[in-house]
Amino acid sequence: MHAMVYHGPGRRSWEQVPDPVIERATDAIVRVDAVTICGTDLHILKGDVPEVQPGRILGHEAVGTVTEIGAAVDNLAVGDRVLVSCISACGSCRYCRNGQYSQCLGGGGWILGHLIDGTQAEYVRVPFADNSTHKVPPGVGDEQMVLLADILPTSYEVGVLSAAVRPGDVVAIVGAGPIGLAAVLTAKLYSPSHIVVIDIAESRLKAATTVGADIVVDSTSQDVRAVIDGLTDGLGADVVMEAVGVPETFEQAVGLVRPGGHVANIGVHGKPATLHLEDIWIKNLTITTGLVDTHSTPTLIGLVAGHQIDTAPMVTHHFGMDEFDLAYDVFSRPGETGALKVLLTRTPHTD
Ligand SMILES: [Zn+2]
Ligand SMILES: [Zn+2]
Repeated sequence: MHAMVYHGPGRRSWEQVPDPVIERATDAIVRVDAVTICGTDLHILKGDVPEVQPGRILGHEAVGTVTEIGAAVDNLAVGDRVLVSCISACGSCRYCRNGQYSQCLGGGGWILGHLIDGTQAEYVRVPFADNSTHKVPPGVGDEQMVLLADILPTSYEVGVLSAAVRPGDVVAIVGAGPIGLAAVLTAKLYSPSHIVVIDIAESRLKAATTVGADIVVDSTSQDVRAVIDGLTDGLGADVVMEAVGVPETFEQAVGLVRPGGHVANIGVHGKPATLHLEDIWIKNLTITTGLVDTHSTPTLIGLVAGHQIDTAPMVTHHFGMDEFDLAYDVFSRPGETGALKVLLTRTPHTD
């Protein structure tokens, strides 16, 4: 088969590799029908995630069809359409028993495209297949579903649920990339009074409006704090979500929240940020961070299947899987290309 292989910082290639095989009785092999690229994959390619060894197949988001199951897989059958979650779960360790699958001690957690070969391939081996996949409901397309592998549950759990968004809240979201937009979509479930999205790219602010932001702010030309103050009698936002992952935006997020409010960091950080405790110790803030557990994925699948969330505007580019190099190129230059999520689908001749 072909797969997108990481060859060290800055080096990747779509190349011929051996097909995956069942290694443990709890594994399944899934033919990848639709797959996407995550900002985290770009972090890996920059060398920010040193645990990823050269030779690793990248990718942790996919929708596909089960082609083989191990002897101990009970809930899947060959031919089932499944979502492959970015988080795998052994199902029996202390954390899994508590629904905190991201911290799995039994060999799960974020392993796909990280510690084991991932989904940017024609086939993928999925460990703990019963606990690491979700069946795709009839009528839900691959394109809608693939966004539930990572970005929707990440923004919902690490952003909206961690921050406990409540009706009437003023919610500020720093960053209008895919994660920020998914935060808009899922924050709306709780009827905030205003969702304010902050970014520096025109195309992304436009996308934020499309998915339901009430106010968009270009922080290069507008005073963000003044906009928030105008909505909150000068108090600051009830909830601020950081959806970029650089020190400046984290510090900006902390500067926008009201006393007693909540800053939910969703971004993946590669550098230290400054926490101005000398200013904020007195403000009764709650600051949370996290890796998604994906405990909310069944809820989100229900919302997508019931047409309560429309993820379609987030997919900006479509490619065949044999165009993986081009897809990476487009995804890595969002300022020029306007890319949010890029979707790659199986090309028949590569089967
Ligand atoms: Zn991801
Ligand atoms: Zn576990």
